[in-house]
Amino acid sequence: MKNALTDTARSSCIMCGGDSFTESVESESFPFGADEDIITVNVPVNTCVECDFSFTDFRAEEIRHDAACEHQNLLTPDRIREIRAVYGMNRRDFAAAFRIGHASLERWENRKLFISGQSSFYLLALENKEVGLSLLSIANEPAKTKDESNVIHVDFSALSASSERYEKALKRRDLFSLKRNNG
Ligand SMILES: [Zn+2]
Repeated sequence: MKNALTDTARSSCIMCGGDSFTESVESESFPFGADEDIITVNVPVNTCVECDFSFTDFRAEEIRHDAACEHQNLLTPDRIREIRAVYGMNRRDFAAAFRIGHASLERWENRKLFISGQSSFYLLALENKEVGLSLLSIANEPAKTKDESNVIHVDFSALSASSERYEKALKRRDLFSLKRNNG
């Protein structure tokens, strides 16, 4: 891998101060992950006309990052942006609507952090707008009012004989007294 400069392409050579470069596309391979799998990418390489010093810049960094995403079967940053664009939302609104951490989303999109497998899977589902909109409609349903259907009725007469022991134990502890339903 060439000496990487992650800021914008330099206007002058760090070795000799020259300001004229040629650009070529070169294949490079790098180990990735715990298993050190070899990933191969084609990256633009700048070479100083004066001293022949060559280096890569932020464009190569982006290419390496995206290749690593694909290697892990994760959505690439551009794909994440495209999925957000399906909903026409800015980052903050999208994160809030779909319960994603705003800071995480920003890092995924700007190649500062790999998205998790779980989040990648979730966003992949959201690529289908129907899926996303139905999720939103479910999430935004008003909470059920506390009506009869939500009240839990306990019929003590339905309990087995062991309920008597339970009842006595509760009484001993003076937690509360149970009204026996002899129905
Ligand atoms: Zn130079």
